[in-house]
Amino acid sequence: MVQYLEERQAVLNCAREIYSSGMVTGTWGNVSIRVTGKKLMLITPSGMDYQTLEPEDLVLLDLNGQIVEGKYQPSIEAGLHLGIYQQRPDINAVVHVHSPYAVAFAVARKNIPVILEETAQVVGHEVEVARYAHCGSQQLADIAVQALGDKKKALLLANHGLITLGEDLTEALKVSYIVEKTAMISIYASTLGTIHSLSPEDVSFLNQSFKNYGQEK
Ligand code: 13P
Ligand code: ZN
Repeated sequence: MVQYLEERQAVLNCAREIYSSGMVTGTWGNVSIRVTGKKLMLITPSGMDYQTLEPEDLVLLDLNGQIVEGKYQPSIEAGLHLGIYQQRPDINAVVHVHSPYAVAFAVARKNIPVILEETAQVVGHEVEVARYAHCGSQQLADIAVQALGDKKKALLLANHGLITLGEDLTEALKVSYIVEKTAMISIYASTLGTIHSLSPEDVSFLNQSFKNYGQEK
C-alpha cells in the first residue's frame, strides 16, 4: 500500500488540470506539495505524461533532495521547489507552468502589472521576471528563491515560465490561473490604449480585505 495516497492524488489532479487548462503543453510543468508535518516533498516525475501517471509514480524527497521513495527521476526543477519549502514555512504547494500569456511577459522580460482586483486580492503584487538561468539548474533555483523572498506568491522565469506558491494546492493553482488571466488582459488592454494599474494603496487594501472574501468571516 503506497504512503500518502490522498496527497499523491491531489498532486496528480493538479498536474492533470494544468495540462487540460492549457497552461502546460506536453510535460513542461511540474507540481509539488510539502507533506504536512513531515520534512518531505512529493513532486511529479520528470517528463512523464500526466494523463497516464499513477499515484505511485510521484517522487518523495526529503528537504535535502534525497529520494525517500519513487522509481522515477523527480522533476528537473525539484531543487527550485525544495528551495522554496526551505525558505517559506508559509508555503505548502508549488505549481510551475509554461502558460502562454504569462510566458509572453517572461520573454519580453516585463513585469505583469496589477490591473485587476482579483490580481490584487489573490496575488497582491506585480509578477516580476527573475534573471535568466537554464531550466533545472541550481542557479535558476537560487535566483528564483531569492527573487520570491519571504512574501511573493508568483514569479516569472525569463524565457521560460511561471512559478506560483500557495498555502495549499488550491491556492497555488488559483494564483497560476489569475496570473495567466492578468497577463492575457494586460496584452489585450494594451492594444486598446493605456493600461491603468491599481495604486499600491488599492492593491494593499484589496489584498487585506480578500482574506474575508466569501463565506469565511
Ligand atoms: P520536468 O518534466 O522535469 O518537471 O521539467 C519540465 C519543466 O518545466 C522544466 O522547467
Ligand atoms: Zn519549466
